[in-house]
Amino acid sequence: MKVGIPRERRDGERRVAATPDTVKQLTGMGLEVLVEAAAGERSGHPDRDYMQAGAAVVPALDASALDVLLHVRPLDPHAAAALRRGTLTVGLASPSSELPAVEALAGAGVTSFALELVPRISRAQSMDALSSQALVAGYRCVLEAAIRLPRFFPLYMTAAGTVPPARVLVLGAGVAGLQAIGTAKRLGARVFANDIRPASADEVASMGGTFIRLDLETAEAAGGYARQLSSDAGTRQRQLLAPHVAESDVLITTAAVPGRPAPLLVTRGMVQGMRAGSVVVDLAAESGGNVEGVVPGEDTDVPTADGTGYVTLVGLKDPASAMAFDASRLYAKNVANLLALMVKDGALDLDFGDEVVAGACLTHDGEVRHRPTAELLG
Ligand code: NAD
Repeated sequence: MKVGIPRERRDGERRVAATPDTVKQLTGMGLEVLVEAAAGERSGHPDRDYMQAGAAVVPALDASALDVLLHVRPLDPHAAAALRRGTLTVGLASPSSELPAVEALAGAGVTSFALELVPRISRAQSMDALSSQALVAGYRCVLEAAIRLPRFFPLYMTAAGTVPPARVLVLGAGVAGLQAIGTAKRLGARVFANDIRPASADEVASMGGTFIRLDLETAEAAGGYARQLSSDAGTRQRQLLAPHVAESDVLITTAAVPGRPAPLLVTRGMVQGMRAGSVVVDLAAESGGNVEGVVPGEDTDVPTADGTGYVTLVGLKDPASAMAFDASRLYAKNVANLLALMVKDGALDLDFGDEVVAGACLTHDGEVRHRPTAELLG
């Protein structure tokens, strides 16, 4: 079976769906791997390394000759339609926001697997690309804040005086938030965090952060995810968070509720209440933003209420792609591990009785199998 690895074409995307390391894993499964020239160039994987690992590097992939296509970003409808019936794809698919592509995949009879749909159960942890990429994003957002902050993160006691450590507040303590807490802590900051899931208090403490308890209902839904707060509770949360935001040098927001736009946790007024020079990094910028006025991919200077300067509001975009080497290393492993569930002796062996295979399947045999996406398509 021929497995194709394309060069990603979306603007700003630097990751790749297979690394030389996973090419060895794929060939070990009895697969023939074809890598489009320069596919790994922007993540630090030259063509030569793919060839040494056992792949053939080709100037262009012939979509109609592939049995399997591994990708990072959702395929565009044109690329999906070019695949032959029965081709299997594995990658991120953003089903709810890429409906024309889902329709094209179903229309072409492609068996597509969306990494966003991999069930979050212990057995599937090695295939969980949402977690691996959130880990990268959580780390990266702290570095982005540290670079912009005109202060140190750690405490310094020097002959020229003592520099106090920065105070960092992380809102949303899922995978990305916990990594942000750990990274800020390793840089020497004093770190505080809040989440609406009760279990997160212990997780925050285990990463070295101090959990901020708010007099607020907790909001946990099935599967350990958050549920959306009522409008009143959201207003109250913002009121209760305001003094904590005001005394932070760095605010990092990572809050998300599955299937919903990002919750608004911080108003413009709260940002304006921070000290001049403070930095706010909104990791949810691309899904609506946790911070009012955030612009994805841009820094915005927000004047402080006291007129002494500005707060830098950072709308982080593609943070995992900015760390393309390690992000690809983890992503490619997730992809190869999921594919390994579906290949036996070099041939496809799809078992829809397996909850991971069934759960991650987006389209098969001309149908949209993921019910919420099928409902969106009407
Ligand atoms: P996520 O990206 O969906 O959301 C990020 C965080 O935002 C969550 O912790 C959520 O509680 C929080 N949040 C939502 N609304 C908020 C609000 N108004 N204020 C403050 N915080 C708010 O989360 P995630 O990283 O995908 O993790 C979600 C859950 O899934 C966690 O319980 C995590 O432990 C679990 N998980 C399980 C597995 C596994 O078993 N394989 C893998 C990854 C994550």
